[in-house]
Amino acid sequence: MAIKKIMVIGAGQMGGGIAQVAAQAGLLVVLNDIDPAYIDQRLAFIDQLLVKNIEKGRMSEEEKVAVMSRLIPSTDLADAAGVDFIVEAAVENMAIKEKIFRTLDEVAAPGVILASNTSSLPITEIAAVTNRPELVIGMHFMNPVPVMKLVEVIRGIATSDATYATVKALAEQMGKTPVEVNDYPGFISNRVLMPMINEAIYCVYEGVAEPEAIDTVMKLGMNHPMGPLTLADFIGLDTCLAIMEVLYEGFADSKYRPCPLLRKMVKAGWLGKKSGRGFFSYD
Ligand code: NAD
Repeated sequence: MAIKKIMVIGAGQMGGGIAQVAAQAGLLVVLNDIDPAYIDQRLAFIDQLLVKNIEKGRMSEEEKVAVMSRLIPSTDLADAAGVDFIVEAAVENMAIKEKIFRTLDEVAAPGVILASNTSSLPITEIAAVTNRPELVIGMHFMNPVPVMKLVEVIRGIATSDATYATVKALAEQMGKTPVEVNDYPGFISNRVLMPMINEAIYCVYEGVAEPEAIDTVMKLGMNHPMGPLTLADFIGLDTCLAIMEVLYEGFADSKYRPCPLLRKMVKAGWLGKKSGRGFFSYD
């Protein structure tokens, strides 16, 4: 099936980015959320980003108008009936994702692929609530989507080769580099990244060094563009904890146990940049 019109579910930071990149690649994009105000906000934000692209000489005014005209707001999942491909980027909550996928399975035409941008939930489990598990796949974009080249393409236990090939080609059409991954907790990105962040938090917890020093070692010594504790603050400490729990439970292995300091900070509401305080302070 030629993919010309797609649906993106969730107009948050990830869904908005995916919608923008898809529209810039020439696709028609139905952007769905529960509240029309969220979609309006996101469309205004995309508009601003495109204005910056014009200012930098990367895009013409006509191109911007064309991109914005390809973004179609929707608050009804029934709109999935008219699209060729769907990618879900709603909140990271299994019950919500299962409900969305059950509905999409009923509404979307047979043969339409249902992808999820989940950063940690099992694709195999999401697929199991549908009657088309061979057409369910993970399409894990990185934040911010317009900037980051990587898409992890996650194959659930039942995902077909044809589904994988279609999603790989679509990611490439959107200017991204897809990497094939099998469905195990944390995929590749978070399985490698989060234990490193967790270990950096253990270094704070055990008094090995101050947060600033730990980040400096990783930036200057390992050539990381950002230290692990700053990165944790940017991702959100609640999200970091949730992903560590997925690894800890998914592998039943104590090497993934979340640092007690991470738990304590999340309980205190110190969630990083979004709450103004994490390992560092933000105005
Ligand atoms: P967000 O909170 O910015 O956006 C989520 C959006 O989903 C909100 O606008 C919310 O109103 C909407 N939503 C909630 N329930 C819905 C429903 N039933 N139907 C339609 N829309 C609904 O979150 P985000 O950071 O964009 O994350 C979205 C997904 O992407 C999550 O699964 C997350 O794990 C994943 N992800 C996040 C990042 C990141 O760095 N933020 C990176 C990769 C993947």
